[in-house]
Parts: sequence; structure tokens; C-alpha cells
Amino acid sequence: MSSLAPLPLDAPGSSSAPADILHEVFGYSQFRGPQQDIVEHVVAGGDALVLMPTGGGKSLCYQIPAIARQRAGRGVSVVVSPLIALMHDQVGALHEAGVNAAFLNSTLDWEQTQDVERRMLRGEITLLYAAPERVNTPRFLSQLDSLKERGKLSLFAIDEAHCVSQWGHDFRPEYRALTVLHERYPGVPRIALTATADALTRADIVERLQLEEARQFVSSFDRPNIRYTIVEKKDATTQLLRFIEREHEGDAGVVYCQSRKRVEDVAVMLKGAGINALPYHAGLDAAVRQKHQDRFLREEGVVMVATIAFGMGIDKPDVRFVGHLDMPKNIEGYYQETGRAGRDGAPADAWMAYGLQDVVNQRRMIDESPAGEEFKQVMRGKLDALLSLAEASDCRRVRLLGYFGEKSTPCGNCDNCLNPPQVWDGTDAARKLLSTIYRVQQLSGISFGAGHIMDILRGKETEKVKQFGHERISTFGIGAEFSEVQLRGVLRQLIATGALAVDAEAFNTLKLTEGSRAVLKGEANVTLRESVSSPAARGGKPRREKAARGAPSPAAAALDADGQKRFEALKAWRAEVAREHNLPAYVIFHDATLAAIAERAPATLEDLQGISGIGTKKLEAYGAEVLRVCSAF
Ligand code: ADP
Ligand code: ZN
Repeated sequence: MSSLAPLPLDAPGSSSAPADILHEVFGYSQFRGPQQDIVEHVVAGGDALVLMPTGGGKSLCYQIPAIARQRAGRGVSVVVSPLIALMHDQVGALHEAGVNAAFLNSTLDWEQTQDVERRMLRGEITLLYAAPERVNTPRFLSQLDSLKERGKLSLFAIDEAHCVSQWGHDFRPEYRALTVLHERYPGVPRIALTATADALTRADIVERLQLEEARQFVSSFDRPNIRYTIVEKKDATTQLLRFIEREHEGDAGVVYCQSRKRVEDVAVMLKGAGINALPYHAGLDAAVRQKHQDRFLREEGVVMVATIAFGMGIDKPDVRFVGHLDMPKNIEGYYQETGRAGRDGAPADAWMAYGLQDVVNQRRMIDESPAGEEFKQVMRGKLDALLSLAEASDCRRVRLLGYFGEKSTPCGNCDNCLNPPQVWDGTDAARKLLSTIYRVQQLSGISFGAGHIMDILRGKETEKVKQFGHERISTFGIGAEFSEVQLRGVLRQLIATGALAVDAEAFNTLKLTEGSRAVLKGEANVTLRESVSSPAARGGKPRREKAARGAPSPAAAALDADGQKRFEALKAWRAEVAREHNLPAYVIFHDATLAAIAERAPATLEDLQGISGIGTKKLEAYGAEVLRVCSAF
């Protein structure tokens, strides 16, 4: 941990005006979206619930009030965060900006802990990060009591507030006990923040954290720089490899898989193909997990292949793609995971391969879970919403935002907008499939799997067909005009919409449901995307290629040749500083900041002023070095 001199927080001239802090400390010229309203509300002592997408800029919403209130003599702000593994970097980033921050967690030894506690009790620390389980200890609470008595307990920020809700995807029981903050320190303002957008989780947060009186700040959840693509799963790992090779060579990315085994296999496969991939799942040793996470954060262009154990709060800004080889449980999960792409606002991809097996697996997991029936119903509803997003042939973003209650118009930046899929009317095929299933069941008294049903419909005289005499069924051969791919698509959609069920207990055989009736009677239409192997194959618009081959970062794409050289040199310098400080490179300067420096070709410190991301402290610490690096060109 670097031990930098504390900012003279109460020195004359250190303004507690939010705009001054934004400028001086963080080097940004303007608040983004609702940040200013939120900051002013909290500085004035109001409670707030902030719902903002990933990358929206939630951190400043509590960091600036904490600094402002410290400068006004109000003491310590406590940040509750579930992410022990990230506290070091979060605090390091604040140190880099000249803010007095610290964390208390199990990675500190006894001496370090006491040192932080002493500084906290003296009211010197502006932002103290702690995990929820720490907040609930008698020791910590008595320290807060002491601060409170002396008027030095300024603010509580509850990050990742959805962890309090069982409807969210990261439920942490310890979050439930955080009501103690409100009950014990009713006069201390609280700000709770989350990137989870659904109404159920939001209501749960309000209730569980007793935030009924808090003002709610709800941002748009659109992430316009993320391009959503959902492809039909064929050979998923090969499809993934093609996608990375074609569009994300050398980029940092995350690939989500359902199981640990699959994570391992995919990481090996990618590595074999020359991609810098690492596995991450809960079955790996804690030390290995930490090492892989560090490499992902610190090295450039690492692809993390992971289960959902990886990712919450990973604030690496330049993740260029998030891939899903298996479908998540619901739209909340999909949105949260894909949201880890492109926090820096530069173009990024959310890519998912989706197929029949995903539908079957997710349905089975709900059915087999030990949860109560009511809970399962909620889970099924959420799964259905994701399935209809996956099956959609219209704008993905409109559907995604619509799920979170936001109206929008076709985005022009999803697969369906860029290459409107051909659709075909599968109603007739669906009826034929369902009636075949019905007749086979009638004749044989047992159910069969998808392959056999399709063989009958397409009139194939297989061994099995002959064995059961299924060539005598009246639907035999009446679907010869449909390809197997088409029929699979129909089956997938029937299962996705609940008009057909897969019996996992009985060898994945197909069973009619209540929902089958409407389709059989011709009352429900079945519209399907035409199955195609690639957009190019159907003459669609070309995919976005990387801005320029070899240009490592979208931030630098617009630079001239000399600018590129300065940018590369600055990156090399930044990597060294980051290593020395044991911090990720982006904590020193973002790519966008380096690109802006490279473009300006600065000769004096004044030239560096006003570049976004260079605050007072960084100018002081790095200004001269940056000039030296640039002067070489
Ligand atoms: P979130 O926690 O909401 O995902 P962060 O707080 O990590 O988002 O912010 C995302 C990125 O945007 C960070 O790199 C941050 O420095 C940057 N950022 C936030 N607010 C501003 C602003 N007002 N001007 C410029 N950049 C900002
Ligand atoms: Zn769209």
C-alpha cells in the first residue's frame, strides 16, 4: 500500500463545493447525468438510493460528498462494499487522486488494522471501506459510536446495495444486518447504490435497508456503447473463437460459462488458439483466483473465462467484450454481466450463443431446485423474459430496456438492428410437431425425444421408426419440406414459450403442456428467426472491424502517427508506474487520458491542465514525467 501524504483537507482554499472537488481532485470538467443532483442532495445530508448502470459513475456520487463533508469538518465516511478483493485498488485509486482513504478487512494484519483504526478515530480518514460483516462487529460499532459522539461520523455509502435482496443475483445475508446503521445512527445520511434495475429488487432494497425516506435517483439503464448480439448455438466454443479472432484480437474480455469444468475446458481451448485466457471459478484455490484476477486487472488483453463467481464490482474500464457460452438465469444477470463491458464508454460487445440445451438446462435447474413453489414461479417468469429476448427478431435493446420499464426506439447497435433477421412463419411446422408428439404418445404410450419426433415428421424410416411402427402415424412425412435446423428452431421456441416441455427425468423426452393447446388449435402464432450461420452469409451489413489493425485502443484510434508513438510511450511509462505502485494501469491514467495527452503533445505543465482525468494531485505527481516521456517525440 502506498502511503501518500494526506490531502490538506481543511487547508484554507480547499473548497467544499462539489464542482471544485470534481475538478481539483478527479480532474473532470463536468458532472455526468444525475451526478450533480445526487451529490448536492447527499452533501446537504439527505438519504439517497441511486440506480445507475455500470459505468454510469456511481463512485463519485459518494466520494465527492465524503470529501466535501470532510472538508466541512464532518469527519469520516464509511463505504460498505462486499468486495474485499477490490478494496485495495479502490483505495489505491483514491490515494492517487490525493484522497485520504483506507480499508479495514481480513487482508490486513493486526498492526495495520490498529493503525487504520487509530487514524479513523482521529477523523483523518475521509473514506473508509469495510465489508458488511465487519460493520456488524461490536468492535467496529463502538468505534463508530465514538466518532458519532464527537460529530465525526459523516456518511454511510452502501455499495452494491442489491446484495440485500434475495431477488438480486448476489444475495449476501450480511447485508440484511445493515439496518443497524440507520437504527443506531439515525442522523447520519446514507446513500445506497446499485446497477440492478428491476423493480422487484429495488423495492426489496428500500424495504430491507429502511430507505423509505430516501430520494430515489433512477438513471436510464441504456448502455449505448454496448452492442448486443445473440447467435444461435452450433459449436459454441468455435463460434466464440471466431468472434474473438474476428473482432477482439488482443482485447480484454470476459467469457461466462455455466460450470467449472466448462470454464477449464474453454480456457484451455482459447489458450491453445493463442489467446491470453485464464480460468476463474469458485472451485479454484483462493490464491489462484486472486492471482488471475490481478492479472486480468493489471495486464493488457487478458480474457477471463469464468463462472458468475467472477465479476461483481470489477471496475476495469476497458473490457472490450463479454461473451456468454451458456445462457444466464434471467435478464438481470445477463444485463449485469454484459454491463462489465465498456465502462469507459468506448465501443464494446455483448455476445451470447444460445440454443435448445440452454432452455432445457435452465428449466431443469428451476424445477430441481429445493426452493418453494412461489419462488420457482418468479424464477420461471424471469427465465421466460430472457428467453423471449433471445428469440426476438426485433431490437434487443428495446426489449432489454423495456424489461426494466424503460421505453426506447430501435437502437441501430444490436445484431437485429444492424442485420434485420429474416423471419419465417413456423406456425404450421409447430402444429405438425405438436400433433406428432401427441399421436406418438397415443400410439406407443410413452414419450420420445426431439430427434425421433423430427424423423417421423420428415418421413425418415430409421430403425427406431420401424421398431415402433411410427411410419404408420398420420403425420409421418408431412413435414418433409422443413429442414432439421428449422424444426429445431421451432422446438426451441415452443419450449422457450412453455408450449412444450422437456422431461429431464425421462431421457429428455418431449411432453405436451397446457400451453400446447393454443398452438395446436392454431390460435398462437409462431414466428422464428431464419437460422443462418453468419451475418455475412445472408448479405447483411459488415460487422464492425477493429478501428485499425494494430491500434490497441479505441481511445487512440484518432491519433496521427506521432500521436500514436507518444501514446505507446505513455502506456509503457504508465505500466511501470502501475507496477511500482502495485495498482492496475487504469488507476494511474485511463487510456482516454493518455490519448488526450498524446494528442496535445504538451511542452509545459500548463498544457496538461484541463485534460480530463488529470487532477491537482496527479499533475503534481506525474506532470513532469509525462512531459519527459512526450518530449522524446
Ligand atoms: P460505476 O461504479 O457506476 O460502474 P464508476 O464510478 O466506476 O462507474 O465510473 C465509471 C467511469 O467513469 C470511471 O472510470 C470514472 O472515472 C468515470 N467518470 C465518472 N464520472 C465522471 C465524470 N463526471 N466525468 C468524467 N468521467 C467520469
Ligand atoms: Zn437494436
